[in-house]
Amino acid sequence: MHNNARSSHIETLAVHAGRQPDPATGAVMPPIHLSTTFERGADGLYPAGYVYTRSENPNRIALEACLAALEGGVAAAAFASGMAAIMAIFQALRPGDHIILADDLYHGTKRAVHELLAPWGLEYSMVDTTDLRQVRAARRPTTRLIWVETPSNPLLKITDIEGVAAIAHETGARCVVDNTWPSPMGQRPLELGADLAMHATTKYLGGHSDILGGAVIAREDDEFFQRIRAIQTLGGAVPSPFDCWLLMRSIRTLPYRMRAHTENAWRVAEFLLGHPNVMAVHYPGLPDHPGHAIAARQMRQFGGMLSIQVRGGAAEAMSVAARVRLFTRATSLGGVESLIEHRASIEGPESKTPANLLRLSIGLEHPDDLVADLSQALGD
Ligand SMILES: *Cc1c(COP(=O)(O)O)cnc(C)c1O
Repeated sequence: MHNNARSSHIETLAVHAGRQPDPATGAVMPPIHLSTTFERGADGLYPAGYVYTRSENPNRIALEACLAALEGGVAAAAFASGMAAIMAIFQALRPGDHIILADDLYHGTKRAVHELLAPWGLEYSMVDTTDLRQVRAARRPTTRLIWVETPSNPLLKITDIEGVAAIAHETGARCVVDNTWPSPMGQRPLELGADLAMHATTKYLGGHSDILGGAVIAREDDEFFQRIRAIQTLGGAVPSPFDCWLLMRSIRTLPYRMRAHTENAWRVAEFLLGHPNVMAVHYPGLPDHPGHAIAARQMRQFGGMLSIQVRGGAAEAMSVAARVRLFTRATSLGGVESLIEHRASIEGPESKTPANLLRLSIGLEHPDDLVADLSQALGD
């Protein structure tokens, strides 16, 4: 591992973890190793330990060391997308195993479980994980994993990670947290007892809406993580060396981007809270958010995502989205530019998301400009 950062401060880790000047040239920024194959010595051995890029690539190994450091884990596996990381975790289970999932979570996770993994033999229960009694009651003797997403998508519900991890561990199950929304700046699930943290690095870690990627970070390099590693290298859904390199570059500014995303989200949330055409603002930083007390305990910052419910129904929500000029109407999140999205229409007819809900990914523009844009789009 090239983990040469000697600090536990996340700002320092973001700049230094997994990095060192290139030993061959002294280049301060690492080269991109595009070679798919590595030379074997006359003795038959591989002098640098690299054989073939699907199994291990210098840019990916460096990225994994960096991600493990950011989450306070011992190992990480990087994937070609967030969904590939999610699939690897579920595929590391066995047919007949049972999992518990939140009822409000990323719709791709829901669909993968329902459409791909249930036919393969995975059993699942969906409960409101904000209510620990429901989590406990859903357990079966075959329950192997409890999946948490907090804040959840798109309602920003807050689940008590420590509470769920304790319930999982009572019966030898694992607790996995999709930590995409808060990023390691907002929350470090492994410190709260979770066994694995998972990221769509496509979002805040990438931060510029130009990299697709995923990662799984482990508290222990145990047999379960070894299976995830095998699915990564044998299944082959690995990120390209260029994407690993670009992600390493993005991560350097993560702590400062997250501060500004959070600061701007606060400004926008406060504005929306007082607006007559807004019925509800879902942001865990607000004191009357039902999960606020837990969020304040387990999160270091509340992040840059929020949802609102506008007065009226789908038509009113769509027309607010139609009027924005600075926000971009697009799915996804975590980039420097602010996005607005009508979630129910992208989630499809099965969606339980309120028809009047708009999800906002607050970017790094000046907050006055964001507030002015929403003000003109909401009317009065
Ligand atoms: C985007 C997202 C994913 C999926 O990531 P992809 O890179 O699009 O495959 C998973 N979980 C959450 C919370 C997300 O926002």
